[in-house]
Parts: sequence; C-alpha cells; structure tokens
Amino acid sequence: MIDTHAHLSALDDADGAVERAAEAGVTRILTVGTDLDDCRRALALAERHDGVFAILGIHPHEAGRTGDGAVREICRLQNHPKAVAVGEVGLDWFRDYAPRDDQRRLFAAQLSMAADIGKPVVIHTRAADDDTLAALADFTGTVVLHCFSSPHMLPTALARGWYVSFAGNATFPKAVDLRLAARQVPADRILCETDSPYLAPQPVRGKPNEPANVVHTVAAVAQARGEQPDELAAQIDRNAAACFGL
Ligand SMILES: [Zn+2]
Repeated sequence: MIDTHAHLSALDDADGAVERAAEAGVTRILTVGTDLDDCRRALALAERHDGVFAILGIHPHEAGRTGDGAVREICRLQNHPKAVAVGEVGLDWFRDYAPRDDQRRLFAAQLSMAADIGKPVVIHTRAADDDTLAALADFTGTVVLHCFSSPHMLPTALARGWYVSFAGNATFPKAVDLRLAARQVPADRILCETDSPYLAPQPVRGKPNEPANVVHTVAAVAQARGEQPDELAAQIDRNAAACFGL
C-alpha cells in the first residue's frame, strides 16, 4: 500500500512513522516539501528510506516570502532521482496567508517548471477552485488533486484525466459528498493519502496523523465504491506507480 501525500518532516518521529507504516503494510510514502528547506528535508528522508519518495515545491502559504531564486533552486533539486513530482502548489483563498498576486505568480512559475521537466503537479486548492481551474486551463501535464474536497471540480477533473486523491476527511461521517465523488472516479485515476500530520481519518480522528493510517481511508473509499480494500489498495499502488513513475 502507498500513502501518496504526507509531510513526514512535520512529524515528531518521521523515521519511526516510516517503520510503523511498513508494519501496517504501507511500504511506500510520498513526502511533500513545502518550502526550500523542507524540500531538502524531504530529500534527506527519501535518501534514508528505500520506500520514501519526495514531492518538491513551494506551498501557496509561503508565496509572500518566496523569490524567483527559490523556484530555480527547487528546479535544481528536481534532478534528484527520488524527486517524483512538483507540489504541493496552487491557490489558497481560505487562509489567505500570502497575497493573492504572489500566490498566482508562484503557482504559474511552478506549473511551468513541471511542464519543462515533465513531472506531475500535485495541486492544493482551497476556496479558490475556479481560479485554480483557470490557472490549469493550458496545462497539459499530469495533474493530481490532493486532499480532494471540492466535488464541483470533479467533472473537469474526470474530463481532463486528472488523478483524484482522497484524504482522511473522506472518512468523516458528514463527508457523504466526498464518498459520492469517490464512487465516480475511474479505477485508474483514484489515489489515497494521509496528508500527515493533518486530517487523521475517523478511527483516529483528532490525533496526529501518520502514513500507517492511510489504511482507514482506503477502507472507507473502498466501501463507498463497493470494492474490497485490498483490491483498491493494489489498484492505487498501480495508479501511483503510473502517475509518479515509481
Ligand atoms: Zn499537504
């Protein structure tokens, strides 16, 4: 099983979490860097653990403190053999931690990086779905919608062949709309993730999340789709391998 999106460097004991994940059958983890230093930490973890790979990018929250030099440096780090994608990148009008113009500029720069180097982009979008879709209008590379929480984006995502990744919030009792969305995603486009240390799934809700918990999200999504958890896990493993070139 794979956790396609975790922030291992934000966990108290990242190396222990990798071991506990392996014991739970989660043998591959994609860890996400959110700024330049964090991307270097992600690569260090990927170097230490065979099953850990890195997604490198600058999070929209960091857009106000990020110059062009940082994007160039991320692009250089993407040469690392365990760097598999650009992300998470996008727009966040919910927290508004960074000026919107800075977010748009950073998003555009990182989309063009992904196009240049031919790697997938992992998208963060919050309260900015229409602007995110507009920014992606001309992007022809591989797209992953991380922590999918916007059912009204689904028709576009499916029409354009994007990957849709479900996180712990899809297991919450009230998230009927997310489980309905999960039923509609084609088998070869569905992914699951933890977004650790955030968004722990229902059985462990409220605790710090870690990659081992992706089993709970896979189980809930499988139930919504009328599938067996182990079959869905194997399908997601194949999807992630195809998407990220693992
Ligand atoms: Zn994330």
